[in-house]
Amino acid sequence: MSIKRTGRLLIGGEWVLPKGGSMLQVINPGNETEIGTISNAGAEECQLAIDAAARAFKMWSRRNVYERSAILEKAADLIRGRVESLAKVTTEESGKLLKEAHGEWLAAANLFTWFASEAKVCNGRIIPSRNPSRTLQAAYQPIGVVGVITAWNFPAYNPARSWSAALAAGCTVVAKPSELTPFSAIALGEILAEAGLPGGVMNIVMGDAKAIGDEMMANKNVRKVSFTGSLAVGKQLMAASAQTCTQLSLELGGNGPVIIREDVDVEAVAQGAVAAKFRNCGQVCVAPQRFFVHEKIKDEFLAKVVSLAGQMKIGLGSGADSELGPMISQVHRSRVEEYVEKAKAAGGKVKCGGVRPSSLKSGYFFEPTVIEVSDQGQDLWMQEIFGPVMTVSTYSDLENAVGLVNRSEYGLAAYIFTKDMQVASRTAAEIEAGMVGINEWYPQSIEAPFGGVKQSGIGRECGSEGLHEYLQIKVISNPLPTF
Ligand code: ADP
Repeated sequence: MSIKRTGRLLIGGEWVLPKGGSMLQVINPGNETEIGTISNAGAEECQLAIDAAARAFKMWSRRNVYERSAILEKAADLIRGRVESLAKVTTEESGKLLKEAHGEWLAAANLFTWFASEAKVCNGRIIPSRNPSRTLQAAYQPIGVVGVITAWNFPAYNPARSWSAALAAGCTVVAKPSELTPFSAIALGEILAEAGLPGGVMNIVMGDAKAIGDEMMANKNVRKVSFTGSLAVGKQLMAASAQTCTQLSLELGGNGPVIIREDVDVEAVAQGAVAAKFRNCGQVCVAPQRFFVHEKIKDEFLAKVVSLAGQMKIGLGSGADSELGPMISQVHRSRVEEYVEKAKAAGGKVKCGGVRPSSLKSGYFFEPTVIEVSDQGQDLWMQEIFGPVMTVSTYSDLENAVGLVNRSEYGLAAYIFTKDMQVASRTAAEIEAGMVGINEWYPQSIEAPFGGVKQSGIGRECGSEGLHEYLQIKVISNPLPTF
């Protein structure tokens, strides 16, 4: 029996309950039981958190970068030291496999280490002036108070990615983690406080997402909002920013195209495809989704992925032999089921899965599913599925396939598999995406800029670019005395 948690708000260095004490349930998606409650906050609490962050900004932004970075490095060490227990919290609230939660927390620690280092080498520059009697300096300064709204699919990594960059840059933060997975973010907030982060620098609110989001966008003290989530909500935030000119970073998802040419080792690519597709139950924005497989190898590829997917052990994320956990919620599972039904009606052939596993009576499970698709205009193909469904289609002409890849409004991660490196390079150049993997399934890394083109978002996380999202540039012109 796990102990039920109570998620309080973090405002100005204190863990508090909202006015009236209204609470929301948090459910374990693996067995549909309540694992705790969280504060159901709204605009008022968000405003208090923004006020606290605005008060703390002067102090935090003026701390020298070595002091700020030392706190973030300490936080990274604390995470590494207690990764086992942190992973259990994440698995319980998200349903993901324990080994995936473990890896996620280690990546979160690496994010803090990365941005602690990057902040120390983020130099401004001296610009040679056309007027010899003055110097021109371009200096980086933290933007100010930042609102960070994150999704549930990586309950630790998503918050860590934005928090670490914003804090390293010298910003203060009001964070709203997903109400579906709040306890990982709360644990991260506790770790930062333990590492020595002063009160008010990091604030956490959750509850009524729209009310909190609206307050972040309307409040003039918030200079930037960083959002990870759906395209629909991202567009709402953009509309709101038209009123206040609040800066936005948006990470809005994708529908990962994969081109597989006829010259590949089909067995190896099929194995990698299944591992990448069903990671985190397919709830990954860079997950491969639209498989364009050359007609010469399509049947062989399909047979192999169906055989591998069909053997996956479905079960609780904490189960020692589980290979596929539950989806996050009933709502998200129903959405995926709807896509599958629509695809079937449009002539899609379900090769395996497509249903809930009959052996599991509770939990939001869905069998690993492979569907052969012929209509490349349908929702299952064009929308972000965010579930354990692999869609496979075929092509004969590569240029045509690239054209079909680029028909999507999304452009986050894309993949090309071939032994011909010249073709691979050419294809990578032609595909409209923020990240392209050539013969590999993980084209992202903490030290490289992460983000998309087209409707996949605005801005970049990670890399040096990730730090610059939280900095603004100021030119200081300084006349020189004449001798
Ligand atoms: P998903 O469908 O994957 O849950 P959402 O975009 O709905 O994606 O959620 C991502 C994050 O955005 C979550 O923290 C959620 O609570 C928050 N959110 C949802 N609606 C709004 C809104 N109207 N304004 C601000 N944040 C929102």
